[in-house]
Amino acid sequence: MSKKILILPGDGIGPEIVAEAVKVLTCLRDDFGLALELETALVGGAAYDASSHPLPAATLDLARAADAVLLGAVGGPKWEPLPIAVRPEKGLLGLRAALGLFANLRPAILYPQLAAASTLRAEVVAGLDLMIVRELTGGIYFGQPRGVETLASGERRGINTLVYTESEIERICRVAFDIAMRRGRRLCSVDKANVLECTELWREVATRVGRDYPEVTLTHLYVDNAAMQLVRAPKQFDVMVTTNMFGDILSDCAAMLTGSIGMLPSASLDASARGMYEPIHGSAPDIAGRGVANPLATILSVAMMLRYSLGAPELATRIEAAVGAVLDQGLRTADIAAAGTEQVGTAAMGDAILAALRTEAA
Ligand code: NAD
Repeated sequence: MSKKILILPGDGIGPEIVAEAVKVLTCLRDDFGLALELETALVGGAAYDASSHPLPAATLDLARAADAVLLGAVGGPKWEPLPIAVRPEKGLLGLRAALGLFANLRPAILYPQLAAASTLRAEVVAGLDLMIVRELTGGIYFGQPRGVETLASGERRGINTLVYTESEIERICRVAFDIAMRRGRRLCSVDKANVLECTELWREVATRVGRDYPEVTLTHLYVDNAAMQLVRAPKQFDVMVTTNMFGDILSDCAAMLTGSIGMLPSASLDASARGMYEPIHGSAPDIAGRGVANPLATILSVAMMLRYSLGAPELATRIEAAVGAVLDQGLRTADIAAAGTEQVGTAAMGDAILAALRTEAA
């Protein structure tokens, strides 16, 4: 049975980079026999312009019916004056909430060819291949009570609440253990169990779930130490799992270890591995419409989609190999350009990936 993919190009460079990813999906369908149905819809500022809402009901219906969603990026200065409730970002948050996407997968991969792009020494980061699994729909970002109240004294007090149920912890840990089983079988659970009771529970549940995965070596780190270790020796990690807020911070830190925002994909999954796939970067309004954006993060998001939602890990590996081959050829978009490489635009980079894929197919 063919899989339904909803394509949401979004705003800014979104349509440019998604066009290259669609070329890859079309190639997988036509040359590799992958049964796919592609549908395109509006989200973000583009949707607001067309229908006064960043997440129209028609888009949400299509997303609910799809096996996976590929999103470019949303937002831009044009929509910043709008009320928060209809800003482009609300379209994205609305999709995550409506689809129940509780598991955010953020790989930090540094292709050896791009080691010079990192602010860390090449030997510390070259070949880095780390996966951070962040809980996305619970924790302090959603806990009640929350808000700012005025005390009898007239002083104001701000409140947020860190809250996790055992089942919320268990389901994100299971996602992380399953991913570790497909990778290097090492999982580091990150908490602050020495100070926060809620994450003491986190540690206890992670340890309990770990008994179902005897092949995975489970370790625990306090978040402050995890941040230090990420910068000191990031290659010690295979998979990390953590709370919403810790994951927010650590995954951005890990992304920056690679130094190339245009290279990093991400996935957000529900309980049955239906997911939304998107590059980690935004809509880059400063370069939109110029045909210079790097499409590789979006193309690598397609690889994640194949691995985690479409059950085609061998095709995911082929895409990743094609990206490596194109980097080996010395082709670079402006954001990753370096001396001795050939600078190409968005479409030429997409075409080079297609050529590398077709070479593998032949
Ligand atoms: P950004 O990620 O869009 O851009 C940061 C810098 O990285 C810019 O200089 C940009 O040119 C560059 N860059 C980003 N992606 C690139 C690519 N593929 N190729 C080459 N260079 C690339 O972050 P920002 O400037 O803070 O945000 C711009 C807009 O994007 C804002 O409206 C923001 O709200 C939105 N945003 C959306 C998402 C999303 O859709 N998931 C995420 C972050 C930001």
